[in-house]
Formats: sequence, C-alpha cells, structure tokens
Amino acid sequence: MFIGHYGPAVYDVLRSGKVKLWHAFLAVQAMDIVFCILALFGLEGAASLVDGNLVFDIPWSHSLISAVIIASVTASIFHVLTGRGSMKGYWIIWLLAFSHWPLDWLVHRPDLPLYPGGDWMMGLSLWNFAWPTYILEVVMLGTAIALWLAKTSGPRWTAFGAWVFVALLSMLQFFSITKTTLDLQAGTLDLAAMPSGVPFAVSGMLFYAIAAGWIGWLESKRRYS
Ligand SMILES: [Zn+2]
Repeated sequence: MFIGHYGPAVYDVLRSGKVKLWHAFLAVQAMDIVFCILALFGLEGAASLVDGNLVFDIPWSHSLISAVIIASVTASIFHVLTGRGSMKGYWIIWLLAFSHWPLDWLVHRPDLPLYPGGDWMMGLSLWNFAWPTYILEVVMLGTAIALWLAKTSGPRWTAFGAWVFVALLSMLQFFSITKTTLDLQAGTLDLAAMPSGVPFAVSGMLFYAIAAGWIGWLESKRRYS
C-alpha cells in the first residue's frame, strides 16, 4: 500500500488525541523509510518479475518479524524524542508503524517474507486489480483528510492545502502503482526503466519527509476541537 497508509494515522490521532499527526505520518511509513535507507546502500530495492508477478526485493524491511522490530524501534524513538510521554502514545505509534505490514500484505504480490531471508513469500496481490485498489487508496486518504478537517478548525487556506495534498498524492499513487500494473498487464512495462537504486531511495525519503512536513505545517495552523 502507498497513500492508503495515511488513513489509519489520521483516525488514530483523532481518536486518541495523544499523537501529533505528522509523527503518525512518519510512523505508518517507517517500514518504507527503512526500505529507502537499505536501498540507498544497495541492500534492497530491485523490482523483478516472478511468475509474471511484479515483486520487490524487500526481505529485510518488509518481513513480518521486521514489522514487529521496526514498530518497536519507531515507537521507542518517538517515546524518547517526545519526552517520554504516556505509554498510550508509545502503543499508538507502535500500532501505526505495524499497520504498514497487514495493509501491504493485502496489496503486494507475494514478496513479504515471514522473517528476513525466509522463502515463504506472502501478499494477496490486490494491486493486480489496478483501478479498484487505486480508488481504495485514494478513498482511504481522502476520507481521513475530510474527517481531520471536520474535527479541526483553522484558516481556510489550510483546508485548501490539505486537499492539494490529497490531489498530489493521488497523482503520485497513479503513476507509481496503478500505471505500473496497467503497463504490466498490457505487456508494455519496461522493468529497466523503473526507478531504482540511489535516486529511488533518495526520492522516496524526500517524499516521506515532505508529506510529513506538509501535514505538520497544516497541523500547526489548525486547532483540534
Ligand atoms: Zn511498504
């Protein structure tokens, strides 16, 4: 999953009132941020075709055991950096970081191992239904942002900024995920032309930082009711 990961972040922040939204935005993508760091060093990242399925080489960042470890490390980092607040805040960040795995499991083609280096790959491949999953992810982000705007108040431009965010991410979702699947199914996907290596890792990290920064900036201008 890609932009849909941000849905649970918004719901948990609104329900708990314990965590900043931009922290939650970083937490739900912690596994992908680990992926980017590993891809930077060439340890992960190459996309390949296995039995006609487009899979990613993500044995370290995306195993189920890794999800537990990454969630624990992410929650601990937030716990320390936010001045050792409530344990509830710790567990919310833990769950949000962990939520990345089950959501990825729904959409990924089998490339999620049980443990790093394991042979048994999991993934329900829902991304093969290109348009329904596109709509699913856009709706997950869009309804979450609509709810966030309804439960917070602030200058009108901040609401505009939030919808621009949804529109830009929906475009990115289309070009990075949906179009890739459509090209694959049409037999026109050029694997060699897919982003990879250091540029892919750097642009991924920039994206996650800008997304969290953007929402954090809007959050600082709005008030929770
Ligand atoms: Zn992922």
